Order: sequence, then C-alpha cells, then structure tokens
Amino acid sequence: MKERTENILKKLVNINTTNPPGNEMDVINTILGFFPEDIAYEIVDHGDNRGSLIIEIKGEDEEKIGFIGHLDTVPVPDESNWDYPPFDGVIKDGYMYGRGTADMKGGVTAMILTALYFVENNITPPHTLKFVFTADEESGGIGIQTLRDKGLLKDISKVFIPEPTDEQIGICEKGAFWLNINVKGRASHGSRPDLGINAIEKLYEYICRLKATMDLEKEHYLLKKSSFAITLISGGVKTNIIPEDAKASVDIRTIPGIDHDEILKNAYEISKIIEEENPGISIEILVENNRPPLTIDEGNGFIKEIIETYERLSYPVKFKGLNFYTDASQLIPFHNIPFVILGPGEENMCHQKNERTSIESITRMAKLYISYIINY
Ligand SMILES: [Zn+2]
Repeated sequence: MKERTENILKKLVNINTTNPPGNEMDVINTILGFFPEDIAYEIVDHGDNRGSLIIEIKGEDEEKIGFIGHLDTVPVPDESNWDYPPFDGVIKDGYMYGRGTADMKGGVTAMILTALYFVENNITPPHTLKFVFTADEESGGIGIQTLRDKGLLKDISKVFIPEPTDEQIGICEKGAFWLNINVKGRASHGSRPDLGINAIEKLYEYICRLKATMDLEKEHYLLKKSSFAITLISGGVKTNIIPEDAKASVDIRTIPGIDHDEILKNAYEISKIIEEENPGISIEILVENNRPPLTIDEGNGFIKEIIETYERLSYPVKFKGLNFYTDASQLIPFHNIPFVILGPGEENMCHQKNERTSIESITRMAKLYISYIINY
C-alpha cells in the first residue's frame, strides 16, 4: 500500500491546483485515471477549467456515507524558501513534501485508496459510498455550494471530512466571519478638524465598539476562545488633511455557541448609532465570508462508531477541535447530518512552507475509513 500511496499522492501534487485559479479539472482527470472506466461518476463543471467530481460505489443498501475532500490548495508565496520544489512531491524519511500534501491531497489520496479497495477487490460495501472531490474550498467555496444547491449531497447521511487532523477525531471547528467596513466622513484642513469628520478615527471607534459587544473570554473545551482581528486597514491622503475615507477588514473566528447573525445585527446597529452621532458620516458594512462554527456531540452515534473503529485498530482515541473552517461549514448548517473531520497529516502544516505529510499517516487513515465502512 505504501508505494501505491506514494504514487497517487505524487501525481496529485504534481498538478498545480493553487487557488486562484484552481484548475481543478486537471486533477479530476488524473483521479478518474486511477479507476476502471465503468466507475459511476459525475463531473460538475464550474467553468474556467474548474470542476468538482463525485464517484459513487453502490452498496447493499441505499444509505449513503459521504467523504468530502477539496482539490485546490493555497498558493506558494515564495518557492525559493522551500527545501524541495513544492510541486515535485519529493519523499524524504517517510514524508512527502509539497503544496497540498497536508491540505489536503493526502486526505484525497486516502479517499481514493478507500474507494479503490472496494472496486479492485470487488467488495460491495454495506452502504453506498459517495466520494466527493470539490473545487475552491480555499476561497469562496464554489464547489461545495454548487453541489449542495444542485441537491447532489442531500442523500448523504453521514460525512467524513478528511482534512489534516493529526489523525485525531475532529468534532468541532471554529466559524469565520469576515467584515469589510467602509467609512465616508468629510475632509477638512488639518488645522480645522472641527469642520470635518475624521473617517479614520470613526472607523477605529466603530471597530472598538463592535469588538466590545463580543464575548472573547468564553472558552470552549477544545477550541479555546473566539478571536477578533483587524487584518486590513487603509485611509487618509496626507498628514495635514482630515481624512474623508477609511476602510478596514476584520477577521472574527467564533467558537460554537456564538451566533453570527447576532454579530451582524450589532455591526449594523453600531453603524447606525455612529451615523446618528455624527451627521454627514456614512458607514457601509459588507460580509465577505460567513461560515458558522460547527460541533457534534462526543456521544453522537456516529462518533461512537468512529471511536469503536479506532479501538478496533488500536489507534489512540483523541478528540480535536479545528481552528480553520472546512467544506463542512457549507454543508452541515443546510443538511443536519452527523459529521467528523478526520484525516492524515498535521494541522500545523496547512498553508506552510515545506508542507509535508507522512505516507504512513495516509495509509493508516485509509485503513480506518475502510474498517469503518465494512463494520457499520
Ligand atoms: Zn483544507
């Protein structure tokens, strides 16, 4: 299995699917090449050489177990900082190095190995298996949204998200709420601030007031605290001019229990208050990204089955909370099904230079998926 794992992962890493532009169609054809021609599949075309793929393996009954993995990766900011070329798939001491090895072509490889196990050994799984390979997870999420909106995922009753979790059982993930704030004030001479409305100062005040409405001290047992970060800011033209324009973006990450609608309501309310306090000012709020936090109970039946599978294979049982969001955030709030985030590779390797994944980790996770499928 080791050599096979290496071959598959290397082929996936060799195809550059950094997003933008993604070019996920190129890797879809490679994935289909691993399977016999009569495999049941569907490609959903998103245009511009982008697409998502679903491979289905018929089971003894109609229940469907889903695996969802994304095909795109984040870009490589500076190739010269890497010890090995990021698209070569160099193997050293049991690890393959390359962009996407951890996030998440390693997980995609484990999905392919799992599917091939049933296809090549002519084993009909107890339930139907749906392997979903999506485009654009690292950006807007076109892949998962399109498949969901076309109704192609609504027959899945349990879902695995094979993102890198250090082989631990991921039962929750933080939400992400990104806001863009544009403030338009009134310019005046730097010596007469009383005649203008200082957009930068009002923007700063706005952000502080919004931040103050959030409970950033509350702790989740796996995810710790929510966070609120100003990540972009610009405004002003000259030292001696009271600025008319200012804009900023904030990246808010939330633990389960924090309601994004509530944050948005506060965001609008505070803008209205500041507008009333400062006639002539306008504050515009735009939601750039809204992915709710997710959680599943440790005692959920699906999670219990996963724990039993870990025990059967003598893998150490450990729960994990993911700091980043996954495709699950675009699915679970719409189809309320049990989920687990569970895959090969280290969470810390995501989006890093010298990204790598241990080959053994991929085969261990594929074994786990297979064992789960056979026994439930
Ligand atoms: Zn990922």
